[in-house]
This record gives sequence, structure tokens and C-alpha cells, in this order.
Amino acid sequence: MFPPRFDYERPDSLDAALDALAEEGAIPLAGGHDLIPLLKARERDPGTVVDLGGLAELRGVERVVTDEGATERLSVGALTTDADLLDADPAGVDGLLDATRAVGDAQIRNRGTVGGNLAAAHPASDIPAATLAGDARLHLVGPDGDRTVPAGEFATGDHETVREGDELLTRISLPLSPTAGSAYSRKTHPSTGYASVGVAARVEVVDGVVTDPRVAAVGLCEAPVRLAAVERELDGADAGAPVAAIADAAERAGERVERSVREDHVVPADQRRRLLPGCAEAAVSSAVARAVGREGVAV
Ligand SMILES: Cc1cc2nc3c(=O)[nH]c(=O)nc-3n(C[C@H](O)[C@H](O)[C@H](O)COP(=O)(O)OP(=O)(O)OC[C@H]3O[C@@H](n4cnc5c(N)ncnc54)[C@H](O)[C@@H]3O)c2cc1C
Repeated sequence: MFPPRFDYERPDSLDAALDALAEEGAIPLAGGHDLIPLLKARERDPGTVVDLGGLAELRGVERVVTDEGATERLSVGALTTDADLLDADPAGVDGLLDATRAVGDAQIRNRGTVGGNLAAAHPASDIPAATLAGDARLHLVGPDGDRTVPAGEFATGDHETVREGDELLTRISLPLSPTAGSAYSRKTHPSTGYASVGVAARVEVVDGVVTDPRVAAVGLCEAPVRLAAVERELDGADAGAPVAAIADAAERAGERVERSVREDHVVPADQRRRLLPGCAEAAVSSAVARAVGREGVAV
């Protein structure tokens, strides 16, 4: 299938990119893994495709200090490819690295970008689980200036986000803490290769006790969801016996998800619910083990 006709622009600065996006029907292009097939299927009909490939300022991984030096965060440029993030191998965001490693295959990760993965908002994408569990912020810029959106408020449905058409996702940032651990675990869909269900977890372990647990699932619903039942069970749990603490909660986690569960002819909704506890248990156990291993160690 051939895409519809469109104009093509490749700006070399963020300001020029925003000007180009201000045109009616303009749409940004990053790695193209999601957008090009949609164009070919004629599910998108942009007036102009704005290729972000010339915006070097949106690439790279760095630690930044915020809140008057009180908090350190890891900042990942939206155009950073999955492969470049994995090569950078930053400390303190193991869950994000697990999720990025799970994306497609080497060809997909070489071209696909972290920002594109989030902006595409495919319901079974891996990275959104890690950003939601990791309490990430998504940084956007548009004609009216910058804004920051918590990961939990970004995706609203299947390929739907709060991003306005003339805004760009510039970077994501995640809090770093020497007492935190995070992980991601998924069951792969047998035909699409995406996650049937994927779960990311992030916990703090202080004096042997689990605090501030955040557990999020993708693949289950149209947008990523927090698993509140698992989080409640984990909060205050003995970090020495986390699997026992979460096993029951994980078992019930699927029942307490309020949104409707996705299904297709290969992986029905019941099966996704059944896959959830195993993924939750694996992600939480690994996150806790990593936090215990790093307790008190500077990131
Ligand atoms: C065969 C195959 C297998 C895959 N398997 C997986 C998988 O297992 N797990 C997984 O998570 N993903 C998977 N993907 C998705 C892939 O990893 C990409 O993340 C995804 O396709 C989008 O990233 P991209 O950089 O290619 O973005 P593009 O396709 O270029 O863009 C995607 C969307 O985001 C918008 N956009 C892109 N960048 C920005 C920005 N900075 N600001 C605002 N809007 C922006 C575009 O306009 C478009 O609407 C797979 C893709 C393919 C083709």
C-alpha cells in the first residue's frame, strides 16, 4: 500500500520544528516504525511530515539535578534510540532498561526512539510501563511554551495521548534514588511480538522495609494502568520475603483493574488476566532484590 501524498520537512532546530508543526495537519516523524505503517495503511493523512532526525539536541542521556539540588533525575532525550539508551546503560533505571531491551528486535531498537515509543501510545508498548512505574515526567514543548506531564497522565487510550498536535515531546525524566530498585517482566504475544501483558515495578527499600511501591501494567488495557492492589500489599512489606507478600495480591490484581481488558483472537482477556500475576511477581521480586542490592549505594 502506498501512503497518501504529503510534504516533507527536516528542520535542524527545535524552533524550526515547532514552526513546521504549527502548519495544519503536520505530524512529527521519529524512527518511523509506528508512523510509516500507519501512513501506508492510510490511517494517517498528514499535510506535512516533519522529520525530527536533524534535532541533535533531543538525543542523549544525562543526569540532572533539580529542586535546588535536592533531587537527581535521569533525563533521556525523546529522540534517543532504544539502542543508544541501552548502550548508555545509566545506573538507577533498571526497569526502563529491562523494558527497552524487551522492545522488538535489534533492528527495531536501532531506529525506534524512546519518545516515539511513548508518543505512539501503542497499548502493548513496553517503555510506558517502566515510565509509569518509574514515576517519570514527560517534558513537552509547543507554541505556548513548555509543560511537564506525569507519566500516569500522558496516555489516554490506544494511540491517544494528551499531546497536542503542535507539541513535541522533548525528553523524559525519572527520579534517581540510591534506595530504589526497578524491573520489568513481560509475556510476549505469540503473533504480534509485542507484550500480551507486561508489568514494571519500582520500590524503595529502607531498613529492610518496602516503601513507595509503584507497579504498572501494559498490554492489559488500552492505556497503561497502575496495579493498586499489588502496591497496597507491598507497602511496608518485609523486603526479605517480598514474593510471599505479593503472591496473593498479584493473583487478585487482574480482577481489580477497572478498565476493560483488551483481547484478540490469539490472546483473550481471561488469558491476559491469568498472565498478570506471574509478570507482577517477577517484576516486583526483581525490583526488590535490586533495591536491596543497592541499599545505601550511591547511584
Ligand atoms: C516489527 C515491530 C515490532 C515492534 N515491537 C515492539 C515491542 O515489542 N515493544 C514496543 O514497545 N514497541 C515495539 N515496536 C514499536 C517501536 O519500538 C517504536 O517504539 C514505535 O514504533 C515508535 O517509535 P518511533 O521512534 O519509530 O516513532 P515514529 O513511528 O516515528 O512515531 C510514532 C508516533 O509518535 C509521534 N512522535 C514521535 N516522536 C515524537 C516526539 N518527539 N514528539 C511528539 N510526537 C512524536 C509521531 O508523530 C507518531 O505519531 C515495534 C515496532 C515494529 C515495527
